[in-house]
Amino acid sequence: MSRSLWLPGATLALTAAAALSLTACSSDSSNPAADDGQLLVATTVAPITSIAANIGGDKVNVEGIVPEGTNSHTFEPAPQVAELLSTADVIFVNGLQLEEPTKDLAEANMKDGAEIVDIGDEVLPEDQWIYDFSFPEEDGKPNPHLWTDPTYAAKYATVIADTLAERDPDNADYYRANEEAFIAKTDELASALRADQKTVPDGNLRLLTYHDAYAYFAKTFGWEVVGAVQPKNFEDPTPQEVARLIDQVKAENVPTIFGSEVFPSAVLEEIGRATGARYEDTLRDDDLPGAPGEADHSWLGLMRYDYITMIEGLGGTADELKAVTVENVAPDEAVYPQ
Ligand SMILES: [Zn+2]
Repeated sequence: MSRSLWLPGATLALTAAAALSLTACSSDSSNPAADDGQLLVATTVAPITSIAANIGGDKVNVEGIVPEGTNSHTFEPAPQVAELLSTADVIFVNGLQLEEPTKDLAEANMKDGAEIVDIGDEVLPEDQWIYDFSFPEEDGKPNPHLWTDPTYAAKYATVIADTLAERDPDNADYYRANEEAFIAKTDELASALRADQKTVPDGNLRLLTYHDAYAYFAKTFGWEVVGAVQPKNFEDPTPQEVARLIDQVKAENVPTIFGSEVFPSAVLEEIGRATGARYEDTLRDDDLPGAPGEADHSWLGLMRYDYITMIEGLGGTADELKAVTVENVAPDEAVYPQ
């Protein structure tokens, strides 16, 4: 993991080794794209890369930008990413202001006729954006995590299919068929979730998370986000904030608090100890499970994993979710930077 690549402000401090490996990586993946006549599609976070790969299959070249395990909210692309952005035909970003530095680099480098598609902005009108503790309205950046809600992931698939079909009409039927198959999987996942969440004792569908990635999911599926630990600067909360959270967890009888793979936090452990709540530290919002090439390494694998973890963490059973087959609906040949 080349952490220095994506820490804010660290792009100029690349080690020689990291710079070398990045150059090697981008030329390996970009050169075939230039030759085969297929669209080159750049994407940002891994869940969007996975959805784009499911729609584009083997008819497009998909290359992600944000390395998995990275804090995507503070990610700044290395200068070398400009090479990919200058050759891409389409640049899919989540939008809702998640990837402003990447968009800036894209706008400065993209070729004639290329376009940036802000997927989230297309599927959710601005008056429905959610602001909260980690994404306060006065800062102007809404909670961007639409893809953790399968009903929005389905809409992402449609925006991607619309875009690819328009740019590559010869393969439009292929993209449309993949869109339909992918949406069927999102429906299957949503139905399994609705069934399994009924098993959580006392209807206690309450989430106290470290990283606040489930705001839209909660609204759609009737969960309550009782709090998020991570302040807007993505650092640990202050001792006063921790004390307040401990009081809140005790007062609301939250049985389990959920941490994030990408943001290991001693603070959550402390809150768990002080309140008796169980600390479940493996939720992930944009770091796919498994390794590229494995079925679980996908949007579907990611969300199925999170929902099972939440439901079991709250004392329910997840038999329906476990019965959902995790598979890509088209071959996933995308590049996922690690
Ligand atoms: Zn996030």
